[in-house]
Amino acid sequence: MKLWRGGRVATLAGDAGWGLIDDGALLVDDHGLLRWVGPSAEAPPADEVVDLQGALVTPGLVDCHTHLVYGGNRANEFEQRLHGASYADIAKAGGGIKSTVAATRGASEADLLAGARTRARALMAEGVTTLEVKSGYGLDADTEARMLRVARQLGSLGLDVKTTYLAAHAMPPEFSDADTYVAAVCAWLPGLHAAGLVDAVDAFCEHIAFSPAQVSRVFDAARALGLPVKLHAEQLSDQGGAELAARYRALSCDHLEFLGPDGVRAMAQAGTVAVLLPGAFYALRETQLPPVTALREAGVPIAIATDHNPGSSPTLSPLLMLNMACVLFRLTPEEALRGLTVHGARALGLRDRGQLVPGQRADFCLWDGGHPRELAACFGHNPLKARVFKGRIQGGA
Ligand SMILES: [Zn+2]
Repeated sequence: MKLWRGGRVATLAGDAGWGLIDDGALLVDDHGLLRWVGPSAEAPPADEVVDLQGALVTPGLVDCHTHLVYGGNRANEFEQRLHGASYADIAKAGGGIKSTVAATRGASEADLLAGARTRARALMAEGVTTLEVKSGYGLDADTEARMLRVARQLGSLGLDVKTTYLAAHAMPPEFSDADTYVAAVCAWLPGLHAAGLVDAVDAFCEHIAFSPAQVSRVFDAARALGLPVKLHAEQLSDQGGAELAARYRALSCDHLEFLGPDGVRAMAQAGTVAVLLPGAFYALRETQLPPVTALREAGVPIAIATDHNPGSSPTLSPLLMLNMACVLFRLTPEEALRGLTVHGARALGLRDRGQLVPGQRADFCLWDGGHPRELAACFGHNPLKARVFKGRIQGGA
């Protein structure tokens, strides 16, 4: 048993509030689980004691939506958008996701791993302890498998990685008919699942991607294997994707700028998490805001994530997402931090992390600061002192 004492602990216990303990302590067992959390003065005895030296302590960050594994980059499209092209224009002209597919197919597993490791380390340097990574730049059986294998290997860096199969992301050039491609997407899934490479299944439901009817075929294939689903929904238009996903009791619907009242209701009833992605909203200079007030009033848990990808959200800063969620989407700093911790975990179907309470994993961050709202108020600055993963300190301090 190890006791970490003398920190300002934001437990995020319960459904609301920071759960602040001014001079707080955490007792961690040999399995990397929290056994006790409370005031230092009341702490139980331990074999080893670590002085937190007044550090601010929060749960480790959960980045629940990334496309971290890919070849190439798309800075050229950043320039094109500045010259007036829209994300949809670029996609229709063969850019966007398709250009990353070409670069990813041409990259070796070692090259993909090297790039992804660098990016994962950048996320970890800002406190990420759990990371979701999607496939979806292969769009063929071999490359999708390669992406998922690379994602799994990131776990050796000292963070927990969840992998999501997103072959229904875009149409590959060798297919002309979307229904035929969707049948292939469904046919590849059992083999990848049998290889232990898939934790969840995702799709892109949009007029530039796949229709609700096509997405439902992918979801049926997931359901047949007992895999949970997620959906890129209502990013550019209201396709009724959230309602469809809710019918499959999706873990999350992500983006949601064009989500309507029926979608909000369906998500609330299904317990589906709304994952908001302010980095993509910002980079694409979107003006349609996700319906935060309606989500809040309906009691839909709100998560936020980096959506790291080479085109529409090339950020590696979860802390910047905290700030953008507040400034752009009007989340409170507490909602934003819950979005990157406990609700991010829920968007991955994980109930064992995201709050600093007994029984949860001892994944936490030590920050230089006096109050957790400072993490959201500040931007372009990283106050992380150290990251603790499964009870073990990693880097910094
Ligand atoms: Zn995405």
